[in-house]
Amino acid sequence: MEGKGIPETTPHVLTRYESIDSQRLTTDDSADSDLLELTPLGSGQEVGRSCIYLCFKGKRILLDCGIHPGLHGMDALPFVDVVDPEQIDLLLISHFHLDHCGALPWFLQKTAFKGRCFMTHATKAIYRWILADYIKVSNIATDQMLYTEADLEQSMDKIETIDFHEEKQVSGVRFWCYNAGHVLGAAMFMIEIAGVKVLYTGDFSRQEDRHLMSAEIPAIRPDVLIIESTYGTHIHEKREEREARFTGIVYDTVSRGGRCLIPVFALGRAQELLLILDEYWSQHPELHDIPIYYASSLAKKCMSVYQTYIYAMNNRIKKQIAVSNPFVFKHISNLKSIDHFDDVGPCVILASPGVMQSGLSRELFESWCPDSRNCCIIAGYCPEGTLAKQVLAEPEEIQALSGQRIARKCQIEYISFSAHTDYQQTSEFVRALRPPHIILVHGEANEMNRLKAALQREYEDSVSPPVLHNPRNTVPVRLHFRGEKTAKVMGSLAIDPPKAGHKLSGVLVKRNFAYHLLAPTDLSKYTDMAMSTISQKLSVHFGGTFEDLCNCLSHFECEISDGKVRSVRVMRQIVVALNTGARLVTLEWVASPVADMYADSIIAVLLKSESNGYAGRPVDEKPLNSTLLTDLLSDMFAVEGLTTDGETVMKCRIDGTDVEIDLCRKQLLKCSDETISSMITKLLSCPAS
Ligand SMILES: [Zn+2]
Ligand SMILES: [Zn+2]
Repeated sequence: MEGKGIPETTPHVLTRYESIDSQRLTTDDSADSDLLELTPLGSGQEVGRSCIYLCFKGKRILLDCGIHPGLHGMDALPFVDVVDPEQIDLLLISHFHLDHCGALPWFLQKTAFKGRCFMTHATKAIYRWILADYIKVSNIATDQMLYTEADLEQSMDKIETIDFHEEKQVSGVRFWCYNAGHVLGAAMFMIEIAGVKVLYTGDFSRQEDRHLMSAEIPAIRPDVLIIESTYGTHIHEKREEREARFTGIVYDTVSRGGRCLIPVFALGRAQELLLILDEYWSQHPELHDIPIYYASSLAKKCMSVYQTYIYAMNNRIKKQIAVSNPFVFKHISNLKSIDHFDDVGPCVILASPGVMQSGLSRELFESWCPDSRNCCIIAGYCPEGTLAKQVLAEPEEIQALSGQRIARKCQIEYISFSAHTDYQQTSEFVRALRPPHIILVHGEANEMNRLKAALQREYEDSVSPPVLHNPRNTVPVRLHFRGEKTAKVMGSLAIDPPKAGHKLSGVLVKRNFAYHLLAPTDLSKYTDMAMSTISQKLSVHFGGTFEDLCNCLSHFECEISDGKVRSVRVMRQIVVALNTGARLVTLEWVASPVADMYADSIIAVLLKSESNGYAGRPVDEKPLNSTLLTDLLSDMFAVEGLTTDGETVMKCRIDGTDVEIDLCRKQLLKCSDETISSMITKLLSCPAS
């Protein structure tokens, strides 16, 4: 179904001041949270300023950064003030239409954004010309301009390109793109964070036309599908029918001596219309005296871009290029500006911009609309608040840019050539992908509601129907994805097949969102990391002889070595050497929690002997000095909740283990940890304690 005034909508555009709440979005976006948040900052229940904020596992992504063609200056921007641009990791642009990339130079140059920005090669090439043209034709005061030509130029370096199906990764976020049809270079992005996949369609069309292929259907099922809903439940007329209707209207207009205005964006659907008109003219010699103009300062540049990106178009064009370049038109001349135009009789002009807010299309419309022989063909979707949308209602008069009222007598026709999905295509697309969650964007509220209801009806009897969301701007959709964390065991740890109840220990390596369990010795094989050991060396004052030293250490397991320097190997880990001349004892060992604790107790024993005299003294039969013991324990361990029951029992917790010590009998009463228990026993039996 096609016709004037479609899609019908409530004529209301949300302005910045009506923003639901301009508070920043606060999200539990820590890496461990299972909350995925999607917020339209633009294109939420509206068409224009597409911008969707996605936040999951601490990663923040913006999808598109467009302007609202019906609004001016800052008002035209998406509600980016509810997010912190500095924290955004990645910005993906789906295609070169202003409602998807018009705010990009502003965002790249005027905010604190430091992340990375990607679009396809063709989009980048055309984006530059489209935006330069937009800056030129936007009919607003300089202080209202969002950015200048210089800003645009500087922003180009910050844009990286991506090929269709090429996989990229930015701070752990994997993404790649599919052909979306719609316009040259248009892409659908699949984004994967921690195993959760989100597909953003941007604008797409599943109908092949004269030069573009139809949108691909990804072979991978997304968990969330963000899909355009511009045409809601409408079904497009067949391509042949709409082309016939279009050429018929053009033919009738020029045959009655009228002028035919087709407001278009300089690039995109204009190329499709030019291909149709050029072919129609060659088949109708009687029309050869009637000129067709493509009035765009970009015409030449555009054509070279189209010729460069032939490979991104359909097979029909690829075949044709072998014979002659389909974008070199026989019956169409370029018109640089209105100064080069003699308005003397019937003609056809394609002029930008498509929404007729300003520029040449506006100028021509104002001068031609009072004549009933003339015709204006609106060939694409018109957002709210634009003159193109307004004239679809066939008003008696319109307001000129000068403020003057002008009678409108010319014919107005609407034939949608905009390559957006219709209900049939959307429904098939959803059926093929079966995503558990669908987020509708890029559609006026009524269209969206209808589409939502229709899709819900389709899955009424389904056991697991998709959940549909149609959030308004700045209202987040919160979804939970319980990510199962699995770690892959690799290397020497993986040699033995796993058995039930068998415990594995190794180093858990987290890379982006994948976990691997490795033996420390395998680290260098599978990661950029390597295992290293820390050698410790510590010297303390000791005035005694080597025999005194051996006496002090006799409660430990010792091995005496008579090398060049006489030393004792304690507990098979710590080498204790005496330098009699310097009156120093030096301990050397390889750091480990256990060896460190042994070293601590050896030092404690040595220091006590040093202050109380050396071996040979009778064992002190007095109860243990609890303060002294407390100090020693605190030196060696993290001691908690220490209590002393008079002078008899000391209780505390050491590294989570309950410890009880009988101070009179110098006995350890309770301790379930072997290592701690052996060390305290050594300490208690030490003569100097
Ligand atoms: Zn578009
Ligand atoms: Zn769009």
